[in-house]
Amino acid sequence: MKLDILAFGAHPDDIELAAAGTLVKAAKRGLATGVISLTRGEMGTRGTLETRAAEFDDASAVMGVRWHTMLSLPDGRLCPDEAARTAVIREIREHRPRIVLLPWPEDRHPDHGATSRIVQDAAFLSGLSKLDTGQQPHRPAELVYYMSSWEFEPSFVVDISEHIEDKRRALQAYRTQVYTPGFQPAEPSTFIASEHFMELLFSRMAHYGHLIGKKYGEPFRIRGMLEVRDLVESFGERTY
Ligand SMILES: [Zn+2]
Repeated sequence: MKLDILAFGAHPDDIELAAAGTLVKAAKRGLATGVISLTRGEMGTRGTLETRAAEFDDASAVMGVRWHTMLSLPDGRLCPDEAARTAVIREIREHRPRIVLLPWPEDRHPDHGATSRIVQDAAFLSGLSKLDTGQQPHRPAELVYYMSSWEFEPSFVVDISEHIEDKRRALQAYRTQVYTPGFQPAEPSTFIASEHFMELLFSRMAHYGHLIGKKYGEPFRIRGMLEVRDLVESFGERTY
């Protein structure tokens, strides 16, 4: 299936935490979106393979993505080796995305940095016609990095004010992973399962939203610079 936007994460929930609002917004505009988790999240403190897969399915439904799948690369041991790159090249060639979303290379969880490198390398290698996977070569138009734990200076912010409740629902699909009111698993708690983590996440979205004159935003970075075609269209609705 050909996709406009394909997002990669190391673990089920990585993409939703960083970019669910942007993906919901794109899907509601009629764009074909997809999400791929490189691992099944088997090293997570909470949840089982079955619950994590069911949560990933539920969150994907909330985001309205047209394609979602989990690869079976090893959680906690991701590295940019040939097996990982080839698995991602196959997905890129299969779905031929214009835009690829991926984690920023520097992050607290080593799998996030490894995913960034794997996807970045695969997006380039996927365009090489002599690299044979039995598929047509394809190189995406742009790689767009999303923000996980560690902050970076973003290139732009997507206004997700109208989609904040959809994002909340996508996150709460991960009942074993994030704070969900009224649900208290027996397993040990984690930082991201705390109510405070949700407060931090929503504070960050409010912060970046404020910087573009909106209520909530998700920050992203590209390697080059963002072109502004029309100053009035881009900034005319703000109040200085
Ligand atoms: Zn993760």
